[in-house]
Amino acid sequence: MMPEPIDLRSDTVTRPSPAMRAAMNSAPVGDDQYGEDPTMNLLQERVAALLGKEAALWLPSGTMANQVALRVLARPGDDVIVSRECHAVWHETGGSAANAGVQFSEIGRNGVFTAEEFLAALKPRGHVIYPPTALVEIENTHNRSGGVIFPQAEAERICAAARERGVATYLDGARLWNVAIASGRPPAELAAPFDLLSVALSKGLGAPGGSLLAGPRELIRTALRFRRMFGGAMRQVGFYAAAGLYALDHNLARLADDHANARLIAERLASSRRILLDPDSVHSNILVFRLGEGAPDAPAVVARAAERGVLAFAFDARTVRAVTHLDVTREQCARAAEVLLEIVEGAGG
Ligand SMILES: *Cc1c(COP(=O)(O)O)cnc(C)c1O
Repeated sequence: MMPEPIDLRSDTVTRPSPAMRAAMNSAPVGDDQYGEDPTMNLLQERVAALLGKEAALWLPSGTMANQVALRVLARPGDDVIVSRECHAVWHETGGSAANAGVQFSEIGRNGVFTAEEFLAALKPRGHVIYPPTALVEIENTHNRSGGVIFPQAEAERICAAARERGVATYLDGARLWNVAIASGRPPAELAAPFDLLSVALSKGLGAPGGSLLAGPRELIRTALRFRRMFGGAMRQVGFYAAAGLYALDHNLARLADDHANARLIAERLASSRRILLDPDSVHSNILVFRLGEGAPDAPAVVARAAERGVLAFAFDARTVRAVTHLDVTREQCARAAEVLLEIVEGAGG
């Protein structure tokens, strides 16, 4: 039998540990639609406090959190300014057009943009031709750009400029915990400039599901209605909340290990001339590398790696993503880097 693969496709592939399962098993639960799930109430209060916001609301997925945020902060026909290749544009099956009816303006590069770029893209309200810009969204860390951390000072400038012009601000912080650990900034400081933000329990924290929206009580009350409208209002969700509480207690500080492991892989891969990757661009637990001249295509690299027990993700014909997480050890990451290197180097030419 093949040993379990070293699975670097995503940090969503983690499975609850025995201790996390025990916490879920013993959680007191109730009907969350009556506000009577004590474990969920605890989680929502704890996350709101961690993020320095009045209230938080659990949702089954980060995609639903993003979709609900768009409904809360924008109206059909509005323009939403986002980073290039953000999750809402690439990974939500067109939900933003279907659910909120918004249009996106993608700006900047490598997952980041400046306040000047934001202002240049901003379309004023009340113009006879332009779609009004209702919202600016930042993704931190930025998934498709390789876990890049958005410079906090720039996020503050963008949000201040937005506020001055009556534009709402939203942070897709699915991996905000990674930013907090990598930068040493408390989550509340990272969240402070934004009207509303989301965080995930199901990525690096290793819980089986769930994201939370956090913000002022009034916005969270509106989000509650859209959660139900989208079919995301559930009942005894305390089992998920218990996993989330466990994850916050035990899996937050250890994200530093994932970052060190991603860095280890990146440094090893960067030794190949056939791989285009700057290890300094690996800020957190995601590495995205381009295959240079002489290397096979990404689907071939991914297929050959899978045959050797290493799973990665082909982003496009010449781009591969690998993500570290709590279910891969440092040794496994070192081994994965060797396998990928051998495949790329062994391609002949
Ligand atoms: C994973 C992810 C989401 C969505 O989370 P799901 O729970 O998979 O729906 C949103 N934003 C970013 C940046 C993500 O990486």
